[in-house]
Amino acid sequence: MPIYVTRSSMPELSEYIEEIKPMFETHMLTNMGPIYKKFQGELISYLGVRDLSLFVNGHLALEIAIQALGMTEKGEEVGGGEVITTPFTFVSTTHAITRNNLKPVFCDIRKSDYCIDPDKIEELITDKTVGIVPVHVYGNICDVHKIENIAEKHGLKVLYDGAHAFGEKYNGRGIGTFGDATMFSFHATKVFNSIEGGAVAFRNKRYGVALHELKNFGMHTETSITSVGLNAKLDEFRSAMGLCNLRHIDESIQDRKRVHDRYYERLSGIDGIELFQAQKGVTPNYAYLPVYFDKKKFGKSRDDVYMELREQEVYTRKYFYPAINDLECYRDLGGPATPVAHDVSMNILTLPIYEGLATEDIDMICDIILSKK
Ligand SMILES: *Cc1c(COP(=O)(O)O)cnc(C)c1O
Repeated sequence: MPIYVTRSSMPELSEYIEEIKPMFETHMLTNMGPIYKKFQGELISYLGVRDLSLFVNGHLALEIAIQALGMTEKGEEVGGGEVITTPFTFVSTTHAITRNNLKPVFCDIRKSDYCIDPDKIEELITDKTVGIVPVHVYGNICDVHKIENIAEKHGLKVLYDGAHAFGEKYNGRGIGTFGDATMFSFHATKVFNSIEGGAVAFRNKRYGVALHELKNFGMHTETSITSVGLNAKLDEFRSAMGLCNLRHIDESIQDRKRVHDRYYERLSGIDGIELFQAQKGVTPNYAYLPVYFDKKKFGKSRDDVYMELREQEVYTRKYFYPAINDLECYRDLGGPATPVAHDVSMNILTLPIYEGLATEDIDMICDIILSKK
């Protein structure tokens, strides 16, 4: 049996059927119905956030949030706004900025957590900068305090891409409570899924109204359309899947910890293999298992390991390679070099991690990695 980088968590079929049963009476399939509302309420409580709007996927949640926070309006004012972001992410982050007619400005990452380097943000701020879109990459938490100080000083909006950070807490506080808003993704391949789905957690009620209207064609009321919106509503069937998966999320994360700990037992302390150390104050979700290979010390490159595993039907992923500012559609944008992001993207591999991954399989994967070339 091939092993993929992840496997979607699913409830028992009977549990899902129980959840969708009422719809066969009510015929309410979408448009923020009762299952959506129940799911929304349970998420607010689980994530420890003030409020939250649900979306059909994380990408549209992010794209719409940029608009709801007013970054596009300010962009018009200054004649083409700029958004400071990271080149080390999934391309969705950058597309969400660009598709709002804003220019992504890439700030390098730091080696300790692969998140945006807060000490390099200020030098990129111009009179056109409208906001910062950092990413809690792999579930590693950005330096939220430094970023908040910079944003306050310069009057910038902060929107976190928290696609990898579902359920995480920082010093006991829900990660979705930092910045002006945080996007979460519930895609099938994430720690927590509603098949497809996403959310924006926010503090300011004003943003809630804007998010709600924008994802529903810009409808203020049935007859009053006040903005040029689109359709990005989460439907009842997906909300039902989310409700089921949310019931089991703690066990699921606990089992990921088992997998994580086994990898760390096998791969720690080996010359040329770099693993993350847990961040202080962060309750992790074990979303990914990134390993940095230093070929000079380890003897094998990231690409060597990738191929060796592939030959044994273990499909790892080169998240995130190439770095965004090396991609065809972004490399002509210019901007400062981001050597750390470039280096990490060349040498990083994310290993299979998911609920139920057998210890023998983890050991088999580690044996292949550790075998001599
Ligand atoms: C998955 C992901 C997204 C997009 O979320 P979808 O729900 O798949 O649309 C955005 N940013 C990052 C960093 C992601 O990993």
